[in-house]
Amino acid sequence: MRTAKAETLITELAALLGPAGLLTEAADVAPYGEDWRRLYNHRPLAVARPANTADVAAVVRAAVAAGVGVVPQGGNTSLVGGAVPTVPDSQLVLSLSRLRTVRAVDPLELTLTAEAGVTLQAAQEAAAAAGCLLPLSISAEGTAQLGGILAANAGGNNTLRYGNARDLVLGLEVVLADGSVWEGLRRLRKDNTGYCLRQLFVGSEGTLGVITACVLKLAPRPRAVAVALCAVPSVAAALALLGRLQNFDASLLQAFEYMSGEGVALVLRYLPDTRLPLTTPAAHYVLVELATPRPDTALDAVLEELLAAAMEADVVTDAVLARSEGQRAALWRLREEHSEAQKRAGANVKNDVSVPIARLPELIARASAACAALVEGIRIVPFGHLGDGNVHFNLVQPEGMDPAAFLAREGALMEAVCAVVRDLDGSFSAEHGVGALKPPLLAAWRGGPELALMRQIKNALDPLGLMNPGKLLP
Ligand SMILES: Cc1cc2nc3c(=O)[nH]c(=O)nc-3n(C[C@H](O)[C@H](O)[C@H](O)COP(=O)(O)OP(=O)(O)OC[C@H]3O[C@@H](n4cnc5c(N)ncnc54)[C@H](O)[C@@H]3O)c2cc1C
Repeated sequence: MRTAKAETLITELAALLGPAGLLTEAADVAPYGEDWRRLYNHRPLAVARPANTADVAAVVRAAVAAGVGVVPQGGNTSLVGGAVPTVPDSQLVLSLSRLRTVRAVDPLELTLTAEAGVTLQAAQEAAAAAGCLLPLSISAEGTAQLGGILAANAGGNNTLRYGNARDLVLGLEVVLADGSVWEGLRRLRKDNTGYCLRQLFVGSEGTLGVITACVLKLAPRPRAVAVALCAVPSVAAALALLGRLQNFDASLLQAFEYMSGEGVALVLRYLPDTRLPLTTPAAHYVLVELATPRPDTALDAVLEELLAAAMEADVVTDAVLARSEGQRAALWRLREEHSEAQKRAGANVKNDVSVPIARLPELIARASAACAALVEGIRIVPFGHLGDGNVHFNLVQPEGMDPAAFLAREGALMEAVCAVVRDLDGSFSAEHGVGALKPPLLAAWRGGPELALMRQIKNALDPLGLMNPGKLLP
């Protein structure tokens, strides 16, 4: 049963947005209520799909006047249930997917100005068409949208070289919680005129306002790229290789991704058209990508020489260099298909953690031992952005175990991993945010003045608590 205020809101929104802009039928709104991991499924009161900033502002004003919570939604690829309602039939999903214009790409300034609903992939393509690189890449880029990327401060494969979303944003346009519009779409590299408001909204997970457009920094497009898959004897050796590459020329290093032997074995088993291009399987692998805008650089030869020296020093035991675009894509697939392979292998427990880079070997050793002691036969598949100190410390159920019985141990497993991470001065959420899944951890890890400050910011910007209620803050 809808309240009278909710009925009035829906009538108002229908008049404002027209049939293409408002979904109210149960079957139409249902997909917007379920998150990517299928952890949450709460039917939205309705789904508003405005097509421009003025309409986003009008939707927010109407929802706030009705006392209805607003859940901004981009591609809905959040891995922490950030973009779906927390309770059924009472929150309005505000989808940004119709704001999908790339307004400008400037190859001299190296900027891209685009609306929030443009997918990351479409923005990358627009940048590439102008001879530039939008240097942010995640496996969900075909679906994730710029608004969601910024609200979640996404990282991904190239953070090592270019930083995460936060480092790429120059300007934002935001609909504030009172329905007014902050027009901060500046393209300035230097602007010391008070508090940096745009950074407040980056990583705020829709709890402070709705991002409607952005200006992002671009980079020159790489014209020479070299990719290699390396087998390494240990995580410490992987870090030694990272050090060697950084010392040679850190500006060439585009990605440095870790995969465990078990993780690669799952990809090879569950994705039939993948193969390991090395003679024998290893316990640890690193995927290295070098890139430069200089077309005259013989990057393959550079990487080959670096890896040969690393092999002589016993830092690398085996390696293969991609010789074509197809081979590069095949090597990257071994990394990109990790989530899919794990999904096909059964129930998963995911931990997206970070520690200071030097402590990664200790993290992987200690957390692996702790999890193996909790569940016999558990498959431990850490992988990810080693160069950023960020590991997806994922756990897959033992072969043949009842998935429900495995998931019953989720809390204990996550606690065991988090205890090690905390001991190593790390973070319980490196990339994926807090969302609906992890607010209790925020309270435990960021308490005291830090949490009090976050609450003050929330109260100042959203005094009624209607922006993405139930997310981020405990
Ligand atoms: C296969 C896969 C791989 C992934 N890999 C990575 C990775 O490597 N690195 C990484 O960081 N993340 C990764 N993610 C997580 C996810 O893709 C990112 O968090 C992404 O930024 C979310 O974008 P989205 O448009 O789907 O946002 P949504 O999921 O729709 O929303 C994410 C959060 O932002 C809020 N939000 C959305 N749009 C707006 C807006 N316009 N204004 C204000 N708030 C808004 C939502 O309310 C929610 O809190 C991955 C996810 C998947 C499924």
